[in-house]
Amino acid sequence: MSEDKKNQPKKIKINAFWIYGAISLILLAFILNTEAPKSNEYSLTKFKELVRNQNDIKNIEIVPNMHLANIYLTDEAQKKEAYKKFQPKKNFSFSAKQPNFSVKFLDIQNFENFLDSELKEGKTFEYSSKPQDTTFYDILGSILPFVLIIGVWIFIMKRMSGGAGGGPGGQMFNIGKSKAKLFDEKGEIKVTFKDVAGLEGAKEEVEEIVDFLKNPDKYTALGGKIPKGALLVGLPGTGKTLLAKAVAGEAKVPFFSLSGSDFVEMFVGVGASRVRDLFKKAKEKSPSIIFIDEIDAIGKARGKNAMSGSNDERENTLNQLLTEMDGFGSKHNVIVLAATNRADVLDKALLRAGRFDRQIYVDLPDVRERKEIFEVHLRPLKLKVGLDVEFLAKQTPGFSGADIANICNEAALIAARNNKKEIEKQDFLDAVDRVIGGLEKKNKIITLSEKKAIAFHEAGHATVSWMLEHASPLVKVTIVPRGNSLGAAWYLPEERMIVRPEQMLDEMCATMGGRAAEKVIFNQISTGALSDLEKATKQARGMVTFYGLSEKLGNVTYYDSSGQENYGFSKPYSEKTAELIDSEISDIIEKQYTRAIDILESHKDKLTTLAELLLEKEVIFKDDLENIFGKRPFVKEMPVSKKEDKKEEE
Ligand code: ADP
Ligand code: ZN
Repeated sequence: MSEDKKNQPKKIKINAFWIYGAISLILLAFILNTEAPKSNEYSLTKFKELVRNQNDIKNIEIVPNMHLANIYLTDEAQKKEAYKKFQPKKNFSFSAKQPNFSVKFLDIQNFENFLDSELKEGKTFEYSSKPQDTTFYDILGSILPFVLIIGVWIFIMKRMSGGAGGGPGGQMFNIGKSKAKLFDEKGEIKVTFKDVAGLEGAKEEVEEIVDFLKNPDKYTALGGKIPKGALLVGLPGTGKTLLAKAVAGEAKVPFFSLSGSDFVEMFVGVGASRVRDLFKKAKEKSPSIIFIDEIDAIGKARGKNAMSGSNDERENTLNQLLTEMDGFGSKHNVIVLAATNRADVLDKALLRAGRFDRQIYVDLPDVRERKEIFEVHLRPLKLKVGLDVEFLAKQTPGFSGADIANICNEAALIAARNNKKEIEKQDFLDAVDRVIGGLEKKNKIITLSEKKAIAFHEAGHATVSWMLEHASPLVKVTIVPRGNSLGAAWYLPEERMIVRPEQMLDEMCATMGGRAAEKVIFNQISTGALSDLEKATKQARGMVTFYGLSEKLGNVTYYDSSGQENYGFSKPYSEKTAELIDSEISDIIEKQYTRAIDILESHKDKLTTLAELLLEKEVIFKDDLENIFGKRPFVKEMPVSKKEDKKEEE
């Protein structure tokens, strides 16, 4: 800063000089204020673990517009060795207290739900939500917004005149600089394909990219163009980041990693200049890889939600990204990998040839892949000999790689807590339960009659799903209360996609089986079926309005793949159709409810046996069900691969 002052020409008008100086100071303070916590960022998964396992947090300050939460530790925790590196940074910010670290999240609702559920668990932190850091406002008073607006305005003007190189403002405050993390040869992170378990198809596809990076000449010699981008599509935690890192590790090239939301800031024009900066850096280090996580944060289809002006900034950022991708020629071997869990909401311009024209699907792992992932994450653990990894894989349907990594770690913690010398099967089972359902509620008071109702409810689900050909096979039933649920029946649904109406209806019937059992046994129903009803209703609505599976409505869908599902004020159907939809949904559900009741009436004895067993053992597995019902009369469908399912679906 002082450098800059010295460089000011002497004859500059004193007024302008002071205004400039003041604005610079304010901006600097602001940036220090908002940027400083970010340097101590914690991953969301780790944060959740921390909240679950420790009670070290005093206060959480959510900054919704930045998808960020500032975390303040308790005074005792501040002293702990483990948090040494999270001591607040000393800086010249006006803010009185600094958070220890911050966490980024995608969806505030999910985040708050998580906090709420932890509070219910008996954690003692507080959280609050404010759009900006108020301490900053406290000090500078209410004039600040105005000053800021003017400051930002001047700042933008400077940037605009400063051009692509970034004006003095940009260099001074670093705000236009990308926040990409760079991992290069010197970096400590060395991931190769060996660390990525399963994902054979995806690995094969990225293999080619590795080859491009290693031997570009081989491809360009024949006049071919090196691809510029590939999109990794898959649910969170399936290993997209890991895969991208492995590509960089295999090709031995620098790897720039950042998240789509890092581009988006309150200032206009910042996103675009960050993109510019990122590409500039990547080109300097070429060949290199840029990895943009959560690209949907900037890449959502443009021109939607025309009502809110905030989209302009995102659009600018997206446009800049497109320009950069088109801009670099074949002499720059920069490959952009991006990750998303919804390719369908992305702007079509992003997916055009020469941009992200390759889509690589990263699916949830199947049994075999889960076993491999377990093996990767079990490697560093001290295990009891003869641990059945296959059993663990079978017990974790629908789990992502990240979940499995989490389970392995959790199991080690559980074993340590019980002062064990090695980790055994039971620790893993406890970890699984914990990862899905949250902590066991040891002290939750449940009366005997409530417990009985829960047992019959869960037994109802289990019985109905056992009797129906297309319902998902059951893995486990429990009446141990966890998190928000009083009991649960786990199925194996993720191994196949539901495509036929019979399957959907059977599924729904099993979902209604809980309430049906309460009705059959006690002749009364309860509020315990709320989430079941929600699930069934959503499914029925999907059948009617999305998949064209309702007789009365026929082959229409009101689904909009361009991401505009949120109809807002205007529904794409008439009032009359709306009524029809409602009555169809209710018909479908009622039919399945009655069907579940019929099934349970005719198997009342087995239902009772099962419920009693549940009351006694609290947790039962598939084998116990087989003892009661005999072998399931239906041949279990072989899990079909996801790719085929997708085709059928389209
Ligand atoms: P995504 O980017 O898809 O959200 P990540 O790549 O960040 O997921 O995965 C998070 C963690 O989960 C990884 O660091 C790794 O420990 C674990 N993981 C996920 N998938 C795999 C896999 N296929 N093999 C091994 N570990 C995995
Ligand atoms: Zn239920």
